[in-house]
Amino acid sequence: MSSSKIYKLFINGKWINSESGETFPSINPTNEKVIGKFQKGNEEDVDKAVEAAEKAFKKWSEVPTPKRGLILLKIAQLLKQNKEKLARELTMEMGKVIEEARGDVQEAIDMAEYMAGEGRRLFGYTTPSELRNKFCMTIRSPVGICGLITPWNFPFAIPAWKIMPALICGNTIVFKPSSDTPLCATRLVEILERAGVPKGVVNLVIGPGGSVGMSIVKHEKVRCISFTGHKDTGKMILKEAGLKKVGLELGGKNGIIVMDDADLNLALDGVIWGGYGTTGQRCTAASRVIVHKKIKKKFERMLVNRIKRLKLGNGLNIKTDVGPLINKQAQEKSAKYTEIGLNEGAKLLIGGKIPKMKGFFFKPTLFTDCSIDMRICQEEIFGPIVSLIPVKDFEEAIEAINSVEYGLSSSIYTNDMSKAFKAIQKIESGITYINSSTIGAEIHLPFGGIKHTGIGTREGGIEGIHEFSETKTVYIDYSGKLQKAQIDVG
Ligand code: NDP
Repeated sequence: MSSSKIYKLFINGKWINSESGETFPSINPTNEKVIGKFQKGNEEDVDKAVEAAEKAFKKWSEVPTPKRGLILLKIAQLLKQNKEKLARELTMEMGKVIEEARGDVQEAIDMAEYMAGEGRRLFGYTTPSELRNKFCMTIRSPVGICGLITPWNFPFAIPAWKIMPALICGNTIVFKPSSDTPLCATRLVEILERAGVPKGVVNLVIGPGGSVGMSIVKHEKVRCISFTGHKDTGKMILKEAGLKKVGLELGGKNGIIVMDDADLNLALDGVIWGGYGTTGQRCTAASRVIVHKKIKKKFERMLVNRIKRLKLGNGLNIKTDVGPLINKQAQEKSAKYTEIGLNEGAKLLIGGKIPKMKGFFFKPTLFTDCSIDMRICQEEIFGPIVSLIPVKDFEEAIEAINSVEYGLSSSIYTNDMSKAFKAIQKIESGITYINSSTIGAEIHLPFGGIKHTGIGTREGGIEGIHEFSETKTVYIDYSGKLQKAQIDVG
């Protein structure tokens, strides 16, 4: 792959230039080098993509669903064949360490296979009628043109969580990926094309969120918007989408509770993985650790010892533990929040600095003696910064974990079964792990959050099908006469 290569948009089955005539670079966050140039799409490109999706809809929605499933199986097969190459390009474009990059591609493979299987299910249900000689059932139908807008932190997995269910349900797609990871999006769409997705069914429009993203959101012919990204962008999208079906997967400020009876070595692994994996840039990252006062000192020592050994560097090197942040702004944001934490009176145990090396790195950082109302314990930082909040008992731990506006993922380490079950009920989040970190979603289970993490929609599993299909209720009256529900009560 050459850094001077100019990549294109994919509209109506063709790789084309943008109407804007402009391009922009994608930067490798590890060495700040340009890895390629991409078309800077605009509103006219969106119009063309919607027109293509509209034309393709009739034919695609009439393809028998199991046949659509076969195309998804082909996508899975091609992703598998190219897994290593795709993972390496992902690491180059966003800095994720190679093991996690492979996991990202694997998630896309899993989703394609799972949704291929849905091609032979897509269940509705039957239920008895209150009247004689009448039959009732539900069926699923496609929504129409779906606008899919995705972030950069899982550049294969998150688009796959949306594209695969949207396709199996018979929708057509306008896909707008993050401007930080256009190469991964291009590679994914190349694979969809090779797998035989018909022209116009999936259209890729790369370009700025404010123009390309927003014009998809506002487009009258787009029937569904599925968005993953920042809370403030999500709010804006909800306001502008009008009468569309909208799915939102927004931010998190996830916590891990470590009780005094916990297996501390297990908890240590969980905090390191949850707090510093993907350099803290996961919506499910564990940025708060709520720790029982009895074990606080010991756990702090254990954490600092482990953090000291984390190796920063190029994610392609298997010895690297933590890669860079996605861009300069993200690096500056982590530095700014370190300052905020210090000014708020939190105690810095380790890190807190931009290291002297090329790339957008930030040292894995640990604060302690934090209180729940500090900004570092309330706001999503999206960097390698973890805050320890000491608590005196289980009740205070639950209060602390619930003290944020978000509600995505959560975890508790304890060997006390009753505390574990109470935590399942009392923690306000869409996902709770017991004796495991806050990350590790499996694609056949619903994924999403409560409070300001979303609006109640879920992706993955059967719920992922609901997001991209409409339920139609069907009544078949074979009595041969007019029967009136609620009135013919005899
Ligand atoms: P952003 O909200 O900044 O961007 C997400 C996508 O929205 C990008 O494609 C972006 O385009 C686009 N966009 C930006 N502005 C607009 C707009 N006005 N109208 C329409 N689209 C727009 O989020 P990030 O990419 O920075 O991702 C990080 C955020 O995503 C974090 O808050 C994280 O928690 C959240 N997230 C949530 C997940 C979940 O499942 N709950 C999973 C992963 C991440 P462009 O790149 O061109 O700006």
